[in-house]
Amino acid sequence: MVKYNFNAGPCVLPRPAIEAAIDAIRDFDGTGIGVLEISHRTPGWERVMAETEQLWRDLLGIPDDYAVLFLGGGASTQFFEVPANLLKKKAAYLQTGVWAKKAIKEAKFYGEVEVVASSEDKNYTYVPKGYTIPADADYFHITTNNTIYGTEIHTDISSPVTLVADMSSDIMSRPVDVRKYGLIYGGAQKNVGPAGVAFVIVRKDLLGSSGRPLPTMVNYSTFIGAEARDNSMFNTPPVFPIYVMYQTLKWVKSLGGVEAMYKINRQKADMLYGEIDRNPLFTGTAVPEDRSIMNVCFVMAPGHEALEGEFMNFAKERGMVGIKGHRSVGGFRASIYNACPVEAVEALVKCMQDFESSKK
Ligand SMILES: *Cc1c(COP(=O)(O)O)cnc(C)c1O
Repeated sequence: MVKYNFNAGPCVLPRPAIEAAIDAIRDFDGTGIGVLEISHRTPGWERVMAETEQLWRDLLGIPDDYAVLFLGGGASTQFFEVPANLLKKKAAYLQTGVWAKKAIKEAKFYGEVEVVASSEDKNYTYVPKGYTIPADADYFHITTNNTIYGTEIHTDISSPVTLVADMSSDIMSRPVDVRKYGLIYGGAQKNVGPAGVAFVIVRKDLLGSSGRPLPTMVNYSTFIGAEARDNSMFNTPPVFPIYVMYQTLKWVKSLGGVEAMYKINRQKADMLYGEIDRNPLFTGTAVPEDRSIMNVCFVMAPGHEALEGEFMNFAKERGMVGIKGHRSVGGFRASIYNACPVEAVEALVKCMQDFESSKK
């Protein structure tokens, strides 16, 4: 049976990236030695590092005064590395979910934190609006896509202070105006690769001004090399996750880049939300204007709650994988990241329609 992978992360990766990674484990770059067994100081590997950075720059239009870093520890490590490097006195945070809340918790180790607004009152089913960003904050932190709740900030907002964004689950899903941000970070395992590497895009002039001494591995400057090929190479980088990320970004480029990805993502999301809104058995959980194009959350409509387990089995029998909603939301969540093919969304929509028919 064909499996349709809707896992929230780690999640579906482009098939060509997987195939290239398998080949490279056997033989990296025609050397006769696999990518897991070479030194990260070999010229072949330095070329992969440089090309991966260049793909990031080309795909997102990252200006030269920004560094692009690949670090271990996942997005959760960035929750404290960001304030360690940027927080002098006070930081402002928008609380749009559990990930934002975790980032807030870590920032408090380094200074004052002002939560400008929170949507916790309605279990994070919307993105707060009309808040004021304090002008005396060192930075304002947002989570652009709330993976668990299926809400998303769809535009690059304007901020009077340095804007910092956790883009773990919507990076490369749409064009981004990088200039509007001082720092963008995330774990790779939602849209740009496997678990094990995080990306940090940071405007270099922001670094070195926190006034606090930093352990070497926490200081972003440590990973900015004297020459481009030394970037992210202070110690052994997460070689294999970076290799799969390299192949994943080549795939994004081959499809036409982030503009093309956005078009396909919009199409997939519209198709699935269209069915959720049409089908009387289901209802979406996020307010329509803030609906994520990456994570689509829905539950059984009022009056049909008892059918939840039955639909789960029905979907499983038709090859749907990973559609169980996060325990804090319940119901269902279909994560339809870049690498999730249109056919998978079509299959899920058909499955929802067939389930409706079976109840008539
Ligand atoms: C998954 C996720 C994280 C956590 O990433 P890790 O790499 O597991 O630490 C943080 N923020 C968001 C928005 C996420 O989706």
